[in-house]
Amino acid sequence: MAIAANVTPEVSESFTVFSQMTSMDHEQVVFCHDRASGLKSIIAVHNTVLGPALGGTRFWNYSNDREAVTDALRLSRGMTYKAAITGLHLGGGKAVIIGNSRTDKTEALFRRYGKFVQSLSGKYITAEDVGTSKDDMEWISRETKYVTGLPEYLGGGGDPSPFTALGVYMGMKAAANKAYGNDSLKGKKVMVQGIGHVGEHLVAFLDKEGAEIMVTDIFEDRLAEISKRFKVTVIKTEDTYSADMDIYAPCALGATVNSENIELLKCAIIAGAANNQLADEEIHGQMLLEKGILYAPDFVINAGGLINVGMELEVYNRERVKTETEKIYQRTLSIFKLSHEKKVPTHKAANEMAEARIRSIAQLNAKR
Ligand code: NAD
Repeated sequence: MAIAANVTPEVSESFTVFSQMTSMDHEQVVFCHDRASGLKSIIAVHNTVLGPALGGTRFWNYSNDREAVTDALRLSRGMTYKAAITGLHLGGGKAVIIGNSRTDKTEALFRRYGKFVQSLSGKYITAEDVGTSKDDMEWISRETKYVTGLPEYLGGGGDPSPFTALGVYMGMKAAANKAYGNDSLKGKKVMVQGIGHVGEHLVAFLDKEGAEIMVTDIFEDRLAEISKRFKVTVIKTEDTYSADMDIYAPCALGATVNSENIELLKCAIIAGAANNQLADEEIHGQMLLEKGILYAPDFVINAGGLINVGMELEVYNRERVKTETEKIYQRTLSIFKLSHEKKVPTHKAANEMAEARIRSIAQLNAKR
């Protein structure tokens, strides 16, 4: 305490980073800055026991540095669990670029960022995330080979979002099977929150199956576009959580499942693409269990995109990506089974499975 009282604000901030790194067990965090291009970025490497840390780069207008650090740390940790439970030979990492993705993107900024990624010599491999696209990955690829999610004409697998949406759809069907006794989504009222890359493809799957689709987004243009293509009901953002729905699919940002919103939710299932949906895993996982809402853990069902970009590091095969992504259906069912047997929230069952794999490989590595 005496030390904390005497340090400058900057030093105190760095102590916060280390306390967060310690509590979530991160290996490395890199702060990147370039005055000329305006780049401000944080690369977080959570765990590399299973392989290099692969995770996307988020471009977001954080209101302060602390928010950006916390996001990078939470997201990178989630990637460790996602890769582990999916059986991939990858660790967990994630990066954020601080800025407005609609106005601040330039070639110079992304290429400077690519140089920072290259400086980590492959410990961290990037891809797209909220606010970044395969065109941005192409700029990054001018400076580093440690980038995935590249366009097809550069030998990549293209936009990973359709596979993320396929996995979410598989996870949602598994949840329907558990909650309703069969996996049909026909006539089910599904709220898709966030009509971005993933949300749009998810709507297409749901439309094909005859679900009653509700959509919400902060941007009117996204809602107008989706309404032109599919039969959807537009819901105001402020009415999202209290809407009459069977399934809530968070496909925008994280932490939307929190104490305030759980009170309002009347759905039977939560299954969506957003990372870190539970604001606090312990508290909100338990609250959902007690309220009888079946939660399909985000990092289990949104792994399709990671499967897609991860395969770019091997021999890319679209059919194999599809087959591997469809396995999310059975994986989600096995997590529900474990959760039921152990009487623990579903995210806890999934965490245990992922941690068991990481532990077993860490032991193997220690013996080498
Ligand atoms: P995106 O940026 O293309 O789309 C996000 C959409 O959410 C945007 O249309 C945005 O306007 C909307 N949005 C933001 N805040 C909102 C709010 N409060 N209410 C309603 N809408 C809001 O992102 P994406 O690539 O579609 O990813 C969506 C989510 O899925 C993210 O959390 C991302 O981390 C996660 N995810 C994406 C992938 C992928 O392959 N793209 C993979 C795994 C996880």
